[in-house]
Amino acid sequence: MLSPQTVASGLLAASLCVPVAAAPPFFNPFMRHNLAATLGPQLSSGAALYTKSNSDFAKHDERWTQWNAPTFSAVVEPASEKDIVATIQYATSNGIPFFAQGGGHGYSGTLGIIQKAIMIKLQTNFGSALYNAHDKSVSVGGGAKYSVLAEAAYAAGRELTVGSCPCVGAVGGALSGGHGRLQGKHGLGLDALKSMRVVLANGTALDVSAEKNVDLWWGMRGAGQNYGVVVSATFNTFPETPGAMHYDGELILDGTQLEEVFEILNEMVPTWPAGLAFDVLFAAFPGSLDPVIVLSMIYAGPKREAAKYTHRFAALKGSLMFSENMYTWADLPFKAAGGSIAASCGTTKLRSTYSNNVRTFDPKIQRDAWNKYGEFLQAYPNANGTGVLWEIFGTQRVSEIPANASSYAFRDRVTMIGLLQFDYTDPSILPGIEAYGKAWRQQSIENSGWDDDKLYVYPNYARGDEPLDSLFGYEHWRIEKLRMLKKEYDPTDAFRGYHDVWSHPGKDHHGHSERGDLK
Ligand SMILES: Cc1cc2nc3c(=O)[nH]c(=O)nc-3n(C[C@H](O)[C@H](O)[C@H](O)COP(=O)(O)OP(=O)(O)OC[C@H]3O[C@@H](n4cnc5c(N)ncnc54)[C@H](O)[C@@H]3O)c2cc1C
Repeated sequence: MLSPQTVASGLLAASLCVPVAAAPPFFNPFMRHNLAATLGPQLSSGAALYTKSNSDFAKHDERWTQWNAPTFSAVVEPASEKDIVATIQYATSNGIPFFAQGGGHGYSGTLGIIQKAIMIKLQTNFGSALYNAHDKSVSVGGGAKYSVLAEAAYAAGRELTVGSCPCVGAVGGALSGGHGRLQGKHGLGLDALKSMRVVLANGTALDVSAEKNVDLWWGMRGAGQNYGVVVSATFNTFPETPGAMHYDGELILDGTQLEEVFEILNEMVPTWPAGLAFDVLFAAFPGSLDPVIVLSMIYAGPKREAAKYTHRFAALKGSLMFSENMYTWADLPFKAAGGSIAASCGTTKLRSTYSNNVRTFDPKIQRDAWNKYGEFLQAYPNANGTGVLWEIFGTQRVSEIPANASSYAFRDRVTMIGLLQFDYTDPSILPGIEAYGKAWRQQSIENSGWDDDKLYVYPNYARGDEPLDSLFGYEHWRIEKLRMLKKEYDPTDAFRGYHDVWSHPGKDHHGHSERGDLK
Protein backbone atom coordinates (compact mmCIF):
# COMPACT_ATOMS: atom_id res chain seq x y z
CA MET A 1 0.00 0.00 0.00
CA LEU A 2 1.32 3.41 -0.99
CA SER A 3 1.32 6.47 1.21
CA PRO A 4 0.08 9.77 -0.31
CA GLN A 5 1.67 12.17 2.20
CA THR A 6 5.09 10.74 1.72
CA VAL A 7 4.63 10.00 -1.96
CA ALA A 8 3.97 13.65 -2.51
CA SER A 9 6.98 14.63 -0.44
CA GLY A 10 9.45 11.76 -0.90
CA LEU A 11 8.80 11.12 -4.51
CA LEU A 12 7.39 14.12 -4.84
CA ALA A 13 4.38 10.75 -2.32
CA ALA A 14 -0.59 7.70 3.48
CA SER A 15 -3.24 6.46 5.29
CA LEU A 16 -6.63 5.30 7.24
CA CYS A 17 -10.28 4.82 9.70
CA VAL A 18 -13.93 6.39 12.74
CA PRO A 19 -15.05 5.04 15.90
CA VAL A 20 -16.73 1.93 14.66
CA ALA A 21 -17.72 0.60 17.98
CA ALA A 22 -17.19 2.33 21.26
CA ALA A 23 -15.04 0.33 23.61
CA PRO A 24 -17.35 -1.82 25.70
CA PRO A 25 -17.45 -1.02 29.37
CA PHE A 26 -15.11 -3.82 30.36
CA PHE A 27 -14.57 -4.07 34.04
CA ASN A 28 -10.84 -3.66 34.01
CA PRO A 29 -9.28 -5.01 37.16
CA PHE A 30 -5.87 -4.13 35.81
CA MET A 31 -5.05 -1.54 38.38
CA ARG A 32 -5.49 -4.03 41.18
CA HIS A 33 -2.58 -6.04 39.87
CA ASN A 34 1.06 -5.33 40.41
CA LEU A 35 2.25 -6.99 37.24
CA ALA A 36 5.92 -6.74 38.10
CA ALA A 37 5.24 -8.78 41.25
CA THR A 38 2.66 -11.18 39.82
CA LEU A 39 3.27 -11.75 36.10
CA GLY A 40 6.98 -10.77 36.17
CA PRO A 41 8.24 -13.87 38.03
CA GLN A 42 6.40 -16.12 35.56
CA LEU A 43 8.41 -14.76 32.61
CA SER A 44 11.82 -15.98 31.46
CA SER A 45 14.95 -13.92 32.12
CA GLY A 46 15.08 -12.73 28.48
CA ALA A 47 11.57 -11.27 28.58
CA ALA A 48 10.73 -7.64 29.43
CA LEU A 49 7.68 -6.13 31.10
CA TYR A 50 6.78 -2.44 30.91
CA THR A 51 3.92 -0.71 32.70
CA LYS A 52 2.74 2.89 32.91
CA SER A 53 5.12 3.34 35.83
CA ASN A 54 7.98 3.18 33.33
CA SER A 55 8.71 6.77 32.30
CA ASP A 56 9.39 5.68 28.70
CA PHE A 57 6.24 3.54 28.43
CA ALA A 58 4.97 5.54 25.43
CA LYS A 59 7.82 4.34 23.26
CA HIS A 60 6.93 0.70 23.94
CA ASP A 61 3.29 0.79 22.84
CA GLU A 62 3.62 2.76 19.60
CA ARG A 63 1.39 2.02 16.63
CA TRP A 64 1.10 3.26 13.07
CA THR A 65 -2.17 5.11 13.61
CA GLN A 66 -3.75 6.62 16.68
CA TRP A 67 -7.22 6.54 15.12
CA ASN A 68 -9.49 4.22 17.08
CA ALA A 69 -6.37 2.41 18.22
CA PRO A 70 -6.12 -0.18 20.97
CA THR A 71 -4.72 1.12 24.27
CA PHE A 72 -2.38 -0.63 26.64
CA SER A 73 -1.67 -0.70 30.36
CA ALA A 74 1.34 -2.97 30.02
CA VAL A 75 3.66 -4.32 27.36
CA VAL A 76 5.28 -7.74 27.56
CA GLU A 77 8.16 -8.59 25.25
CA PRO A 78 8.16 -12.38 25.44
CA ALA A 79 11.40 -14.26 24.86
CA SER A 80 9.92 -17.75 24.55
CA GLU A 81 6.70 -19.50 23.67
CA LYS A 82 6.29 -20.21 27.41
CA ASP A 83 6.31 -16.43 28.06
CA ILE A 84 3.47 -16.02 25.57
CA VAL A 85 1.50 -18.83 27.22
CA ALA A 86 2.15 -17.39 30.71
CA THR A 87 1.06 -13.89 29.66
CA ILE A 88 -2.13 -15.13 28.01
CA GLN A 89 -3.03 -17.33 30.99
CA TYR A 90 -2.33 -14.47 33.40
CA ALA A 91 -4.48 -12.08 31.36
CA THR A 92 -7.42 -14.45 30.94
CA SER A 93 -7.43 -15.61 34.56
CA ASN A 94 -7.46 -11.99 35.73
CA GLY A 95 -10.05 -10.76 33.21
CA ILE A 96 -7.56 -8.47 31.46
CA PRO A 97 -7.71 -8.11 27.66
CA PHE A 98 -4.54 -8.96 25.74
CA PHE A 99 -3.34 -8.18 22.24
CA ALA A 100 -0.63 -9.72 20.06
CA GLN A 101 1.26 -6.99 18.24
CA GLY A 102 3.25 -7.94 15.15
CA GLY A 103 4.30 -5.01 13.00
CA GLY A 104 1.91 -2.55 14.69
CA HIS A 105 0.46 -1.47 11.34
CA GLY A 106 -3.07 -2.83 11.71
CA TYR A 107 -5.52 0.04 11.34
CA SER A 108 -9.02 -1.35 11.32
CA GLY A 109 -11.32 0.71 13.51
CA THR A 110 -12.43 -2.52 15.19
CA LEU A 111 -9.12 -2.52 17.07
CA GLY A 112 -10.46 0.25 19.30
CA ILE A 113 -12.46 -2.37 21.18
CA ILE A 114 -9.18 -3.47 22.81
CA GLN A 115 -8.64 -1.08 25.73
CA LYS A 116 -6.18 -1.08 28.64
CA ALA A 117 -4.85 -4.41 27.45
CA ILE A 118 -1.57 -6.23 27.91
CA MET A 119 0.31 -5.97 24.65
CA ILE A 120 2.28 -9.07 23.72
CA LYS A 121 4.91 -7.35 21.63
CA LEU A 122 6.33 -9.89 19.26
CA GLN A 123 8.66 -7.85 17.14
CA THR A 124 11.41 -7.52 19.77
CA ASN A 125 12.28 -11.19 20.24
CA PHE A 126 10.12 -12.84 17.56
CA GLY A 127 11.15 -10.52 14.74
CA SER A 128 13.78 -12.52 12.89
CA ALA A 129 13.79 -14.89 9.93
CA LEU A 130 15.74 -18.02 9.06
CA TYR A 131 16.15 -19.60 5.63
CA ASN A 132 15.70 -23.40 5.70
CA ALA A 133 18.00 -24.74 2.97
CA HIS A 134 16.53 -28.28 3.10
CA ASP A 135 13.13 -27.22 1.75
CA LYS A 136 13.84 -23.65 0.62
CA SER A 137 11.35 -22.19 3.08
CA VAL A 138 11.76 -19.23 5.46
CA SER A 139 10.69 -19.42 9.10
CA VAL A 140 9.83 -16.12 10.81
CA GLY A 141 8.87 -15.07 14.30
CA GLY A 142 5.29 -13.81 14.69
CA GLY A 143 6.48 -10.18 14.74
CA ALA A 144 8.89 -10.23 11.79
CA LYS A 145 8.51 -7.34 9.37
CA TYR A 146 8.07 -7.87 5.64
CA SER A 147 11.60 -6.54 5.07
CA VAL A 148 13.09 -9.24 7.33
CA LEU A 149 11.20 -12.01 5.53
CA ALA A 150 12.18 -10.61 2.13
CA GLU A 151 15.85 -10.23 3.01
CA ALA A 152 16.11 -13.84 4.25
CA ALA A 153 14.56 -15.18 1.01
CA TYR A 154 16.53 -12.82 -1.23
CA ALA A 155 19.88 -13.79 0.32
CA ALA A 156 19.16 -17.36 -0.80
CA GLY A 157 18.16 -16.36 -4.33
CA ARG A 158 14.47 -16.85 -3.59
CA GLU A 159 11.36 -14.65 -3.50
CA LEU A 160 7.70 -14.69 -2.44
CA THR A 161 4.82 -12.25 -2.25
CA VAL A 162 5.35 -9.58 0.39
CA GLY A 163 3.57 -6.28 0.92
CA SER A 164 4.89 -3.03 -0.53
CA CYS A 165 5.69 -1.55 2.90
CA PRO A 166 8.79 -2.96 4.63
CA CYS A 167 7.62 -2.30 8.20
CA VAL A 168 4.28 -4.18 8.09
CA GLY A 169 4.17 -7.50 9.99
CA ALA A 170 4.64 -10.46 7.62
CA VAL A 171 2.42 -12.70 9.76
CA GLY A 172 -0.11 -9.92 10.52
CA GLY A 173 -0.43 -9.33 6.78
CA ALA A 174 -0.70 -13.02 5.86
CA LEU A 175 -3.39 -13.82 8.47
CA SER A 176 -5.91 -11.82 6.44
CA GLY A 177 -4.35 -12.20 2.99
CA GLY A 178 -0.95 -10.74 2.25
CA HIS A 179 -1.47 -8.83 -0.96
CA GLY A 180 1.65 -7.80 -2.89
CA ARG A 181 3.32 -7.06 -6.18
CA LEU A 182 4.34 -10.66 -6.90
CA GLN A 183 0.91 -12.16 -6.20
CA GLY A 184 0.23 -12.70 -9.90
CA LYS A 185 3.23 -15.06 -9.96
CA HIS A 186 3.16 -16.60 -6.48
CA GLY A 187 -0.28 -16.02 -4.97
CA LEU A 188 -1.00 -14.19 -1.72
CA GLY A 189 1.22 -14.22 1.34
CA LEU A 190 -1.15 -16.73 2.96
CA ASP A 191 -0.82 -19.02 -0.05
CA ALA A 192 2.90 -19.35 0.70
CA LEU A 193 2.31 -20.34 4.31
CA LYS A 194 3.54 -23.84 5.07
CA SER A 195 2.87 -24.06 8.80
CA MET A 196 2.28 -22.00 11.91
CA ARG A 197 2.84 -22.45 15.63
CA VAL A 198 -0.20 -21.03 17.41
CA VAL A 199 -1.02 -20.34 21.07
CA LEU A 200 -4.77 -20.35 21.82
CA ALA A 201 -6.52 -18.25 24.48
CA ASN A 202 -6.53 -21.23 26.87
CA GLY A 203 -2.73 -21.42 26.62
CA THR A 204 -2.59 -24.52 24.41
CA ALA A 205 0.16 -24.39 21.76
CA LEU A 206 -0.65 -26.09 18.45
CA ASP A 207 1.10 -26.86 15.18
CA VAL A 208 -1.21 -25.73 12.40
CA SER A 209 -0.68 -26.83 8.79
CA ALA A 210 -2.28 -28.74 5.93
CA GLU A 211 -1.56 -31.90 7.95
CA LYS A 212 -2.23 -30.75 11.51
CA ASN A 213 -5.33 -29.01 12.85
CA VAL A 214 -6.54 -28.63 9.31
CA ASP A 215 -9.79 -26.84 10.17
CA LEU A 216 -7.87 -24.13 12.00
CA TRP A 217 -5.40 -24.02 9.09
CA TRP A 218 -8.33 -23.15 6.81
CA GLY A 219 -9.67 -20.44 9.13
CA MET A 220 -6.38 -18.84 9.99
CA ARG A 221 -5.53 -18.22 6.35
CA GLY A 222 -7.98 -15.37 5.79
CA ALA A 223 -9.44 -14.61 9.23
CA GLY A 224 -6.38 -15.58 11.27
CA GLN A 225 -6.48 -12.78 13.81
CA ASN A 226 -9.60 -14.42 15.29
CA TYR A 227 -8.07 -17.54 16.76
CA GLY A 228 -4.67 -17.32 18.41
CA VAL A 229 -1.20 -15.85 18.67
CA VAL A 230 1.12 -17.01 15.91
CA VAL A 231 4.48 -17.58 17.61
CA SER A 232 6.20 -18.48 14.35
CA ALA A 233 5.32 -19.22 10.75
CA THR A 234 7.07 -20.89 7.83
CA PHE A 235 6.63 -19.61 4.28
CA ASN A 236 7.44 -21.43 1.05
CA THR A 237 9.61 -19.45 -1.38
CA PHE A 238 10.07 -19.44 -5.17
CA PRO A 239 13.04 -19.02 -7.52
CA GLU A 240 13.87 -15.34 -7.89
CA THR A 241 12.91 -13.34 -10.99
CA PRO A 242 15.46 -14.07 -13.77
CA GLY A 243 18.12 -11.36 -13.63
CA ALA A 244 17.01 -10.59 -10.06
CA MET A 245 16.30 -6.95 -10.92
CA HIS A 246 12.93 -5.18 -10.88
CA TYR A 247 11.91 -2.19 -12.93
CA ASP A 248 10.55 0.88 -11.13
CA GLY A 249 8.92 3.64 -13.21
CA GLU A 250 7.67 6.68 -11.33
CA LEU A 251 5.46 9.16 -13.15
CA ILE A 252 3.68 12.28 -11.94
CA LEU A 253 0.89 13.77 -14.05
CA ASP A 254 -0.97 17.02 -13.54
CA GLY A 255 -4.41 15.48 -14.05
CA THR A 256 -5.30 16.99 -17.42
CA GLN A 257 -5.17 13.51 -19.02
CA LEU A 258 -6.93 11.73 -16.19
CA GLU A 259 -9.55 10.10 -18.43
CA GLU A 260 -6.82 8.70 -20.70
CA VAL A 261 -5.01 7.20 -17.71
CA PHE A 262 -8.11 5.25 -16.68
CA GLU A 263 -8.97 4.29 -20.27
CA ILE A 264 -5.50 2.80 -20.77
CA LEU A 265 -5.78 0.97 -17.47
CA ASN A 266 -9.15 -0.50 -18.52
CA GLU A 267 -7.60 -1.65 -21.76
CA MET A 268 -4.64 -3.26 -20.01
CA VAL A 269 -6.44 -5.03 -17.18
CA PRO A 270 -7.82 -8.06 -19.10
CA THR A 271 -4.26 -9.09 -20.10
CA TRP A 272 -2.41 -7.63 -17.12
CA PRO A 273 0.96 -9.44 -16.79
CA ALA A 274 1.55 -11.48 -13.66
CA GLY A 275 4.70 -9.52 -12.76
CA LEU A 276 3.30 -6.01 -13.29
CA ALA A 277 2.16 -3.95 -10.30
CA PHE A 278 0.83 -0.39 -10.44
CA ASP A 279 -0.09 2.03 -7.70
CA VAL A 280 -2.20 4.87 -9.12
CA LEU A 281 -2.59 7.63 -6.60
CA PHE A 282 -4.29 11.01 -6.30
CA ALA A 283 -2.00 12.94 -3.97
CA ALA A 284 -1.02 16.52 -3.13
CA PHE A 285 2.43 18.02 -2.68
CA PRO A 286 3.04 19.11 0.88
CA GLY A 287 2.24 22.79 1.17
CA SER A 288 0.13 22.62 -1.97
CA LEU A 289 -3.49 21.70 -2.38
CA ASP A 290 -3.19 20.94 -6.09
CA PRO A 291 -3.81 17.26 -6.74
CA VAL A 292 -1.46 15.26 -8.93
CA ILE A 293 -1.70 11.71 -10.28
CA VAL A 294 1.23 9.55 -9.22
CA LEU A 295 1.86 6.27 -11.04
CA SER A 296 4.30 3.95 -9.33
CA MET A 297 4.87 1.20 -11.89
CA ILE A 298 6.86 -1.87 -10.88
CA TYR A 299 7.67 -4.82 -13.11
CA ALA A 300 9.44 -8.06 -12.20
CA GLY A 301 11.72 -8.04 -15.22
CA PRO A 302 13.84 -5.93 -17.57
CA LYS A 303 13.16 -2.36 -18.64
CA ARG A 304 12.52 -3.26 -22.28
CA GLU A 305 9.57 -5.44 -21.22
CA ALA A 306 8.27 -2.95 -18.66
CA ALA A 307 8.44 -0.09 -21.14
CA LYS A 308 5.68 -1.68 -23.24
CA TYR A 309 3.30 -0.93 -20.40
CA THR A 310 4.72 2.13 -18.72
CA HIS A 311 5.74 4.33 -21.64
CA ARG A 312 2.13 4.66 -22.75
CA PHE A 313 1.50 6.64 -19.57
CA ALA A 314 4.78 8.54 -19.70
CA ALA A 315 3.85 9.76 -23.20
CA LEU A 316 0.67 11.45 -21.95
CA LYS A 317 0.52 15.24 -21.79
CA GLY A 318 0.74 16.83 -18.39
CA SER A 319 3.76 14.81 -17.27
CA LEU A 320 5.56 16.61 -14.43
CA MET A 321 8.20 13.97 -13.75
CA PHE A 322 9.19 10.54 -15.06
CA SER A 323 12.04 8.42 -13.72
CA GLU A 324 13.08 4.84 -14.37
CA ASN A 325 15.32 2.66 -12.20
CA MET A 326 16.21 -0.96 -11.71
CA TYR A 327 16.28 -2.30 -8.12
CA THR A 328 16.88 -5.62 -6.45
CA TRP A 329 13.72 -7.20 -5.07
CA ALA A 330 14.89 -6.73 -1.47
CA ASP A 331 15.55 -3.04 -2.11
CA LEU A 332 12.19 -2.35 -3.75
CA PRO A 333 10.20 -1.66 -0.54
CA PHE A 334 12.77 0.95 0.44
CA LYS A 335 13.30 2.55 -2.95
CA ALA A 336 10.08 2.31 -4.94
CA ALA A 337 7.97 5.49 -5.07
CA GLY A 338 11.05 7.51 -4.20
CA GLY A 339 11.41 5.74 -0.84
CA SER A 340 8.06 7.16 0.23
CA ILE A 341 6.51 3.83 1.25
CA ALA A 342 9.22 3.10 3.81
CA ALA A 343 8.96 6.70 4.96
CA SER A 344 5.29 6.15 5.83
CA CYS A 345 6.29 3.77 8.65
CA GLY A 346 6.07 6.66 11.19
CA THR A 347 3.73 6.31 14.10
CA THR A 348 2.24 9.49 15.49
CA LYS A 349 -0.57 10.26 13.06
CA LEU A 350 -4.28 9.86 12.77
CA ARG A 351 -4.80 7.68 9.76
CA SER A 352 -7.82 5.82 8.49
CA THR A 353 -9.16 4.27 5.28
CA TYR A 354 -12.21 3.43 3.22
CA SER A 355 -11.81 0.65 0.67
CA ASN A 356 -13.52 -1.22 -2.17
CA ASN A 357 -12.33 -3.49 -4.99
CA VAL A 358 -13.48 -2.85 -8.56
CA ARG A 359 -13.28 -4.61 -11.95
CA THR A 360 -13.12 -1.61 -14.28
CA PHE A 361 -12.87 2.17 -14.09
CA ASP A 362 -15.44 4.61 -15.39
CA PRO A 363 -13.22 7.55 -16.44
CA LYS A 364 -16.05 10.07 -15.87
CA ILE A 365 -16.55 8.78 -12.34
CA GLN A 366 -12.81 9.02 -11.75
CA ARG A 367 -12.86 12.66 -12.91
CA ASP A 368 -15.67 13.27 -10.44
CA ALA A 369 -13.67 11.50 -7.72
CA TRP A 370 -10.66 13.69 -8.58
CA ASN A 371 -12.78 16.84 -8.26
CA LYS A 372 -14.17 15.70 -4.92
CA TYR A 373 -10.65 14.89 -3.71
CA GLY A 374 -9.61 18.45 -4.60
CA GLU A 375 -12.65 19.83 -2.73
CA PHE A 376 -11.73 17.78 0.35
CA LEU A 377 -8.19 19.18 0.31
CA GLN A 378 -9.52 22.72 0.06
CA ALA A 379 -11.93 22.15 2.95
CA TYR A 380 -9.34 20.39 5.13
CA PRO A 381 -5.92 21.75 4.08
CA ASN A 382 -4.17 20.21 7.07
CA ALA A 383 -5.22 16.77 5.88
CA ASN A 384 -3.32 17.12 2.62
CA GLY A 385 -1.50 13.85 3.22
CA THR A 386 -4.81 12.22 2.28
CA GLY A 387 -4.95 10.35 -1.03
CA VAL A 388 -6.98 8.07 -3.26
CA LEU A 389 -5.06 4.94 -4.21
CA TRP A 390 -5.70 2.16 -6.71
CA GLU A 391 -3.50 -0.93 -6.43
CA ILE A 392 -3.52 -2.93 -9.66
CA PHE A 393 -1.48 -6.10 -9.31
CA GLY A 394 -1.39 -9.37 -11.22
CA THR A 395 -4.01 -11.91 -10.11
CA GLN A 396 -3.19 -15.06 -12.10
CA ARG A 397 -1.84 -17.23 -9.29
CA VAL A 398 -4.32 -15.79 -6.75
CA SER A 399 -7.31 -16.88 -8.81
CA GLU A 400 -5.82 -20.27 -9.78
CA ILE A 401 -6.00 -21.41 -6.15
CA PRO A 402 -9.45 -22.83 -5.34
CA ALA A 403 -11.73 -20.43 -3.48
CA ASN A 404 -12.49 -22.98 -0.76
CA ALA A 405 -8.80 -23.69 -0.05
CA SER A 406 -8.73 -21.08 2.70
CA SER A 407 -11.05 -18.62 4.43
CA TYR A 408 -9.78 -15.84 2.15
CA ALA A 409 -12.94 -15.23 0.12
CA PHE A 410 -12.50 -12.93 -2.85
CA ARG A 411 -9.85 -14.50 -5.09
CA ASP A 412 -11.76 -13.39 -8.18
CA ARG A 413 -12.33 -9.86 -6.86
CA VAL A 414 -8.82 -8.47 -6.29
CA THR A 415 -8.19 -6.95 -9.71
CA MET A 416 -8.12 -3.34 -8.56
CA ILE A 417 -8.11 -2.50 -4.88
CA GLY A 418 -9.25 1.02 -4.05
CA LEU A 419 -8.30 2.89 -0.91
CA LEU A 420 -9.22 6.35 0.23
CA GLN A 421 -6.52 6.99 2.80
CA PHE A 422 -6.89 9.79 5.33
CA ASP A 423 -3.90 11.35 7.01
CA TYR A 424 -4.64 14.11 9.52
CA THR A 425 -3.83 15.50 12.94
CA ASP A 426 -7.04 17.25 14.02
CA PRO A 427 -9.61 14.74 15.34
CA SER A 428 -12.43 17.29 15.01
CA ILE A 429 -12.49 16.83 11.22
CA LEU A 430 -13.77 13.26 11.62
CA PRO A 431 -17.36 14.09 10.50
CA GLY A 432 -15.94 15.54 7.25
CA ILE A 433 -13.80 12.46 6.77
CA GLU A 434 -16.73 10.12 7.31
CA ALA A 435 -19.01 12.02 4.95
CA TYR A 436 -16.42 12.09 2.16
CA GLY A 437 -15.23 8.52 2.80
CA LYS A 438 -18.70 6.98 2.78
CA ALA A 439 -19.70 8.88 -0.38
CA TRP A 440 -16.47 7.81 -2.15
CA ARG A 441 -17.05 4.17 -1.17
CA GLN A 442 -20.68 4.23 -2.29
CA GLN A 443 -19.72 5.77 -5.63
CA SER A 444 -17.08 3.10 -6.05
CA ILE A 445 -19.60 0.29 -5.29
CA GLU A 446 -22.10 1.67 -7.81
CA ASN A 447 -19.46 1.96 -10.55
CA SER A 448 -17.33 -1.10 -9.81
CA GLY A 449 -17.94 -2.97 -13.06
CA TRP A 450 -18.92 -6.14 -11.17
CA ASP A 451 -22.22 -7.75 -12.07
CA ASP A 452 -23.65 -6.78 -8.69
CA ASP A 453 -23.59 -3.69 -6.49
CA LYS A 454 -21.81 -5.37 -3.63
CA LEU A 455 -18.95 -4.16 -1.50
CA TYR A 456 -15.78 -6.25 -1.81
CA VAL A 457 -13.10 -5.39 0.71
CA TYR A 458 -9.65 -6.82 1.27
CA PRO A 459 -9.90 -7.42 5.06
CA ASN A 460 -6.51 -5.87 5.80
CA TYR A 461 -7.66 -2.62 4.19
CA ALA A 462 -11.08 -2.55 5.85
CA ARG A 463 -12.22 0.38 7.95
CA GLY A 464 -14.09 -1.98 10.25
CA ASP A 465 -17.59 -0.59 9.67
CA GLU A 466 -18.27 -2.89 6.71
CA PRO A 467 -20.68 -5.83 6.87
CA LEU A 468 -18.85 -9.04 7.75
CA ASP A 469 -19.78 -10.74 4.46
CA SER A 470 -18.07 -7.98 2.44
CA LEU A 471 -14.80 -9.09 4.08
CA PHE A 472 -15.23 -12.86 4.45
CA GLY A 473 -17.57 -13.82 1.62
CA TYR A 474 -21.19 -13.66 0.62
CA GLU A 475 -21.61 -17.44 0.70
CA HIS A 476 -23.21 -18.06 4.07
CA TRP A 477 -21.21 -21.21 4.81
CA ARG A 478 -18.01 -19.18 5.08
CA ILE A 479 -19.01 -17.10 8.07
CA GLU A 480 -20.80 -20.11 9.59
CA LYS A 481 -17.58 -22.13 9.35
CA LEU A 482 -15.49 -19.30 10.80
CA ARG A 483 -17.94 -19.09 13.71
CA MET A 484 -17.82 -22.84 14.32
CA LEU A 485 -14.05 -22.55 14.53
CA LYS A 486 -14.44 -19.64 16.92
CA LYS A 487 -16.61 -21.76 19.21
CA GLU A 488 -14.02 -24.48 19.17
CA TYR A 489 -10.77 -22.54 19.42
CA ASP A 490 -11.67 -19.23 21.06
CA PRO A 491 -14.98 -19.76 22.87
CA THR A 492 -14.51 -16.71 25.14
CA ASP A 493 -13.85 -14.45 22.12
CA ALA A 494 -10.52 -13.31 23.56
CA PHE A 495 -9.27 -12.57 20.00
CA ARG A 496 -12.01 -10.05 19.20
CA GLY A 497 -10.01 -7.02 18.06
CA TYR A 498 -9.64 -7.54 14.32
CA HIS A 499 -12.82 -8.11 12.34
CA ASP A 500 -14.21 -10.46 14.93
CA VAL A 501 -16.25 -13.10 13.13
CA TRP A 502 -18.35 -13.34 16.27
CA SER A 503 -19.31 -9.85 17.37
CA HIS A 504 -18.42 -7.64 14.42
CA PRO A 505 -20.42 -4.41 14.58
CA GLY A 506 -23.15 -3.72 12.05
CA LYS A 507 -25.52 -5.79 10.00
CA ASP A 508 -25.06 -8.12 7.06
CA HIS A 509 -26.52 -7.46 3.65
CA HIS A 510 -29.76 -9.19 4.58
CA GLY A 511 -30.21 -6.74 7.45
CA HIS A 512 -29.60 -9.40 10.08
CA SER A 513 -27.62 -8.51 13.13
CA GLU A 514 -24.08 -9.81 12.88
CA ARG A 515 -23.69 -10.54 16.54
CA GLY A 516 -23.33 -14.24 16.98
CA ASP A 517 -24.62 -16.21 19.89
CA LEU A 518 -21.44 -17.46 21.54
CA LYS A 519 -22.51 -20.22 23.86
C1 LIG B 1 1.67 1.64 5.50
C2 LIG B 1 0.94 0.35 5.31
C3 LIG B 1 1.19 -0.41 4.19
C4 LIG B 1 0.54 -1.61 3.99
N1 LIG B 1 0.82 -2.35 2.88
C5 LIG B 1 0.24 -3.56 2.71
C6 LIG B 1 0.53 -4.37 1.58
O1 LIG B 1 1.30 -3.99 0.72
N2 LIG B 1 -0.08 -5.57 1.47
C7 LIG B 1 -0.96 -6.03 2.41
O2 LIG B 1 -1.48 -7.13 2.28
N3 LIG B 1 -1.27 -5.28 3.49
C8 LIG B 1 -0.70 -4.06 3.66
N4 LIG B 1 -1.03 -3.29 4.73
C9 LIG B 1 -2.09 -3.77 5.63
C10 LIG B 1 -1.53 -4.76 6.64
O3 LIG B 1 -1.47 -6.04 6.08
C11 LIG B 1 -2.45 -4.80 7.87
O4 LIG B 1 -2.53 -3.52 8.41
C12 LIG B 1 -1.94 -5.82 8.89
O5 LIG B 1 -2.94 -6.03 9.87
C13 LIG B 1 -0.68 -5.32 9.56
O6 LIG B 1 -0.13 -6.32 10.38
P1 LIG B 1 0.88 -5.88 11.53
O7 LIG B 1 1.37 -7.12 12.17
O8 LIG B 1 1.84 -4.91 11.01
O9 LIG B 1 -0.08 -5.06 12.50
P2 LIG B 1 -0.53 -5.26 14.02
O10 LIG B 1 -1.28 -4.04 14.35
O11 LIG B 1 0.60 -5.66 14.87
O12 LIG B 1 -1.53 -6.48 13.89
C14 LIG B 1 -2.74 -6.35 13.18
C15 LIG B 1 -3.67 -7.46 13.67
O13 LIG B 1 -3.04 -8.71 13.45
C16 LIG B 1 -2.82 -9.38 14.69
N5 LIG B 1 -1.50 -10.00 14.64
C17 LIG B 1 -0.34 -9.49 14.19
N6 LIG B 1 0.65 -10.39 14.33
C18 LIG B 1 0.08 -11.48 14.89
C19 LIG B 1 0.59 -12.75 15.30
N7 LIG B 1 1.87 -13.08 15.16
N8 LIG B 1 -0.29 -13.64 15.84
C20 LIG B 1 -1.61 -13.33 15.97
N9 LIG B 1 -2.13 -12.15 15.62
C21 LIG B 1 -1.28 -11.25 15.09
C22 LIG B 1 -2.90 -8.32 15.76
O14 LIG B 1 -3.29 -8.87 17.02
C23 LIG B 1 -3.94 -7.38 15.16
O15 LIG B 1 -5.24 -7.88 15.44
C24 LIG B 1 -0.41 -2.07 4.94
C25 LIG B 1 -0.67 -1.30 6.09
C26 LIG B 1 0.00 -0.11 6.27
C27 LIG B 1 -0.30 0.71 7.49
